[in-house]
Amino acid sequence: MSLPTAQKAYSPDLVVIGAGIMGLWCAYEALKTGLTVTVIDRDSPGAGASGGVLGALMPHMPSRWNAKKQFQLEALMALEEAAHALEEETGLSTGYRRCGRIVPLTASHLREHAEIRAEGALDFWPERFSFAVMDTSPYTGWPGAGRAPHGVSLDTFSARVMPRALLETLVAAIEKRGGTIISGETVTAIGGDGLVTTSSGQSHSAGAVVIAAGVESFDLMEQTPRAVPGSAIKGQAALFAANAPADLPILYDDRFYLVAHDNGDVAVGATSETAYGDPFTTDDQLEALIGKARAATPLLADAPVIERWAGLRPRSVMREPLVGPLGGRLYALTSGFKISFGIAQLAAHALVASLGNPGKILAVPEGFLPDRHLSLIKDRQDKVS
Ligand SMILES: Cc1cc2nc3c(=O)[nH]c(=O)nc-3n(C[C@H](O)[C@H](O)[C@H](O)COP(=O)(O)OP(=O)(O)OC[C@H]3O[C@@H](n4cnc5c(N)ncnc54)[C@H](O)[C@@H]3O)c2cc1C
Repeated sequence: MSLPTAQKAYSPDLVVIGAGIMGLWCAYEALKTGLTVTVIDRDSPGAGASGGVLGALMPHMPSRWNAKKQFQLEALMALEEAAHALEEETGLSTGYRRCGRIVPLTASHLREHAEIRAEGALDFWPERFSFAVMDTSPYTGWPGAGRAPHGVSLDTFSARVMPRALLETLVAAIEKRGGTIISGETVTAIGGDGLVTTSSGQSHSAGAVVIAAGVESFDLMEQTPRAVPGSAIKGQAALFAANAPADLPILYDDRFYLVAHDNGDVAVGATSETAYGDPFTTDDQLEALIGKARAATPLLADAPVIERWAGLRPRSVMREPLVGPLGGRLYALTSGFKISFGIAQLAAHALVASLGNPGKILAVPEGFLPDRHLSLIKDRQDKVS
């Protein structure tokens, strides 16, 4: 692949703005194709929403199937191999495990829904994954006694990573492949000609620029021909030192998740807040979740909370991921909202394959493309006016 020749002192083929899960996968995928890559972060890798504690990788429920659900399914399958390849390349662990997901069924209609989903899984999921409904949990105390009066559903497709471990592994792989990661530089200006300027006055002239700056992407996109609007949805989560078995499935109970990691820690999350004061402090809403987590399983009843954490998820107005051309040499890779960890690798792979190749169709659902976001927003506005 060849990208337009860059002119300035710093002249990589690709500049990626933001070293979160989106930006790091993008850099890694680009390096694999032989491009030279610089990642610029105003802070450091994982300083944004990606540096949290949950790392749940869950397929959409197998009903009312659509292109987004299909893409996410393919992404979740591709990620398993990609995570293992990264581990082999670096000798580090990503904390990836296809652990499955268990859901206590607390009412008869929920059991009926679960049975319909079990049928849907036969239609939409690959054969090696199952979605079963059973009378009791095969995992003692997960969920706790009396919490699943109508049984449980258990899928074998869901997985998890340790977010910080995955980011560290990506950073190591990027550096090993000769990529440059610049921390502590804020990108202040971007031009359609690929010129990127930072707060300290550095400029980089790149063949392509990918905006993967999390919630800041929406402001940065205002400097591009296709400014897609979006917002920042706050989330809070906590981590217990629980000495949990590493093979526990993700437990989804009463609208919160428990994710048991390889080191025995268990994460609980997450709140979803559109209105908030300080985006990065935790409050009573998290304490309520911690209380619910303790009540959900005896494993957490007395386990110490070792971290409380809050971050901002990027979400476009259309609530879809945003992947693709913004005009000139500029591209978006953002708005993963609650599924960034599951889709980042495949979305980055698809985007990189399209760089410098305008004739190539970007292999993501149409609803992810910036143009599509903008035309849907316009349709909406036309209807209102
Ligand atoms: C509590 C909580 C729990 C979550 N749980 C899950 C989960 O279980 N599974 C899942 O898939 N997702 C989950 N999410 C969502 C997920 O964490 C986010 O969608 C994802 O991390 C976004 O990644 P990103 O790379 O787009 O952005 P970020 O990780 O925010 O990265 C953006 C980076 O850009 C940098 N940056 C910003 N502006 C500039 C600039 N001008 N110049 C240079 N650098 C800049 C920032 O410093 C940052 O490092 C959760 C989110 C929260 C808050």
